[in-house]
Amino acid sequence: MTEPLEYEVVVIGGGPAGLTTAIYTTRLGHRTAVFEKEGGRHAAVSHVHNLLGVSENVSGEQLATHAVDQLEHYGGDFFPGAVESVARLDSGDGGDDDTDCTDAGGPRFRLESTHATVDARRVVFATGFRDRSPDVPELERFTGRGLHYCLHCDAYTLSDGSVFVLGHTESAAHVAMSMLNFTADVDLLLDDREPEWDDETDAQLRAHPLEVIDTAVVSADADETIPEDEPPWLGGLSFADGTERDYLGGFAMYGSTYNADLAADLGCDLREDGAIAVDENREASVDGVYAVGDVTHGQNQTTIAVGDGAYAGLAIHKDLRPFPKSVAELEALEGEGEGGSDGEGWGEGTLEDGVPGAAADLRARMRRVRDLETHPGLRGPSPGRE
Ligand SMILES: Cc1cc2nc3c(=O)[nH]c(=O)nc-3n(C[C@H](O)[C@H](O)[C@H](O)COP(=O)(O)OP(=O)(O)OC[C@H]3O[C@@H](n4cnc5c(N)ncnc54)[C@H](O)[C@@H]3O)c2cc1C
Repeated sequence: MTEPLEYEVVVIGGGPAGLTTAIYTTRLGHRTAVFEKEGGRHAAVSHVHNLLGVSENVSGEQLATHAVDQLEHYGGDFFPGAVESVARLDSGDGGDDDTDCTDAGGPRFRLESTHATVDARRVVFATGFRDRSPDVPELERFTGRGLHYCLHCDAYTLSDGSVFVLGHTESAAHVAMSMLNFTADVDLLLDDREPEWDDETDAQLRAHPLEVIDTAVVSADADETIPEDEPPWLGGLSFADGTERDYLGGFAMYGSTYNADLAADLGCDLREDGAIAVDENREASVDGVYAVGDVTHGQNQTTIAVGDGAYAGLAIHKDLRPFPKSVAELEALEGEGEGGSDGEGWGEGTLEDGVPGAAADLRARMRRVRDLETHPGLRGPSPGRE
């Protein structure tokens, strides 16, 4: 059997959160890999909004493609494929059972994916969550084109239009009332379900100028003014009582399912809603495991996912970097005449051999990249600049 590839950091999930962590740890000199199965919320974003300096003509997939280019450019690895299991190789009590590893103790993990097996010193879950889709035939095909999930991203696009909110929970009621900030024409569609909000919300809802419609929604129809060679946009909804309503767009509010099963199997604490519980460094309750982005809170924003990714990247670097060492550590090494890092944390050597701390091939990449004139990533003309 071939030996598993060894990484300092393995990130599960190639959305904005995971790719940011990986870019940070790679640029900070740690051998890093990202595993990504297809899909995820970023892939559903047809026009990215609220992202500093990035045009809304850019899609979530385009952003991720550029980020993968950046990661590989810096020396990180990208594996297209789902991680199927994550297991601890050490005892889990802070010690280290594996004699091949000269790292001063600390956790180690083995990850099995569709096409590869790898070992890692730190694991990052950036697996996101899945929106629960509405149960309306034909509606899902309008995702990002009239069917939305994120008020902070898309309410702007629907201003002064005819808008629906599909759902029967407290959060659906809240979003429907919030949409009155953007338009005077809001319908809350129960789709033949009993409302789950409390009496106070019910009174509040009735006092707001919006319509609550309880009839089942039976189909979604395209806007026929859009030319056939362009992607379809939602035009309206049909109801079980035979009525039809035109809509510019709306939101589905049926909650979400966190992709946290692998983390739970590893023993990570989950919050009551199913998200992975993390501290301010985005470290989970299991030593050496981190979690970033939507899988930790459902805040639903690319920028927040990117920020989480950066927090974890910096925290992992501080945790793994060979330098600075304490004076006591250096004196002990001098006494033994060995024990410095080989730049990867997996081998043996003298202290002098261990300087610089980052791996030789990654440093070679750093030298090469700094001399390049062009780098991967989004580029375009800047208004008013040369
Ligand atoms: C329709 C829509 C429009 C949106 N518009 C905007 C917007 O305009 N602006 C904005 O800021 N935000 C927007 N958002 C929210 C934004 O997309 C998310 O907040 C962001 O993508 C979260 O990033 P993430 O990396 O945490 O998760 P994701 O983007 O969901 O990425 C998680 C990744 O993990 C992968 N994965 C899961 N399990 C595994 C596994 N076992 N092995 C390998 N890979 C795995 C998934 O395939 C996925 O690619 C929108 C969301 C939707 C659904």
